[in-house]
Amino acid sequence: MSGACAIRSVSEQSVLMELHRRYSEEHGEVSLEEFCARLLRGFVLVEDLELERGQRIAEHDARVQRTPTRDLQGLIDDLCALSMEDGLTGLFNRRYFDRRFGQELQRAVRDLRPCSIMIVDVDHFKRVNDSYGHAAGDQCLRHIADVMTAELRSTDEVTTRLGGEEFAVILPGADARGALIAGERLRRRIEARHVALGSATISVTISAGIVSYDPSSGEPSAEGLIAKADEALYLAKGQGRNRVVVHPTSAEPRDTGVSSEERDGLLG
Ligand code: GH3
Ligand code: MG
Ligand code: MG
Repeated sequence: MSGACAIRSVSEQSVLMELHRRYSEEHGEVSLEEFCARLLRGFVLVEDLELERGQRIAEHDARVQRTPTRDLQGLIDDLCALSMEDGLTGLFNRRYFDRRFGQELQRAVRDLRPCSIMIVDVDHFKRVNDSYGHAAGDQCLRHIADVMTAELRSTDEVTTRLGGEEFAVILPGADARGALIAGERLRRRIEARHVALGSATISVTISAGIVSYDPSSGEPSAEGLIAKADEALYLAKGQGRNRVVVHPTSAEPRDTGVSSEERDGLLG
C-alpha cells in the first residue's frame, strides 16, 4: 500500500498517531488526513503538543522539524498509508474499511448500482492457536489473507482485516448473486489450500455472511448493513460452518439462489 518508504519503523507511525490524538484533543477532532495537511503546511508545531514519551519522541520530533518539505510529504504519505494497513497481514484495516464502505455506499446511491459486503470468519480458529501456538495462528491468518488477495483480485474488490480472525470484503457493483459466487469461490479455495505450520500441515475453513445493498431500497445505513452481514455470518456458523450465507433481506438471491449444480458450473 505504501510507496517508496520514508518510514523506518512502526514507532514513527505511532508517533504520528500520538501527535494526531493530542492535536485533536487541543483543537477539536480533525481527520488524520487534515492533520497531516496542516502538519505539512506548518500549521502544527510538533513541539507544542507536549509529548510525554521522552527522548525517543523528542529526537523524532527534531528529525521531523528538520526534514525538508519533500521528504516530509513522503513521510506523511507513508504514515497515512500505514495508518490504513493491518500490521499482521498487510491488508487494509478496520479504519479503512469503515471509511471506504461509506464512500462505496454513497457511490452506489449516486450511480444506482448495488454494493455488497462479505464478512469472513475463520472456523474454529481458537483450536489452531491452542494446538500449534499463537505464532502459527498468525501465520495461518497471513495465509488466509494471501488467498483472499489472490482470489478477490478484481480492481473493484476491497479486502480488509477487521481484527482477530475476521475479515471483510467490499464488493462495489456486486449484487447478492455476484457476491455469493465470489464468496463461494473463496471458501472453496481456502478449504482446498493447506497451510504449512512448521512440520505440520493443516487445513482451515471459513464461514461468511453477505449482505447486498440495492439502491432502489432507499438510503443505505452502513451500520445496519454490517449488522446484517454479521447476522448472516452467525447463520453460517449455526448451519455447521464452512459455508457462505446471504442475509435473507438482501435482494435476489433471497436464500442462496444459486443451486449447487449451478455453483459447480460457475465456480469451476
Ligand atoms: P468459530 O468457528 O465459532 O468462529 O470459532 P473460533 O474458535 O474461530 O472463534 P473464537 O472467537 O472462539 O476464537 C477466536 C480466536 O482467535 C481466539 C483468539 O485467541 C484468536 N485470535 C484473535 N486474534 C488473533 C491474532 O491476531 N493472532 C492469533 N494467532 N490468534 C488470534
Ligand atoms: Mg471471530
Ligand atoms: Mg472464528
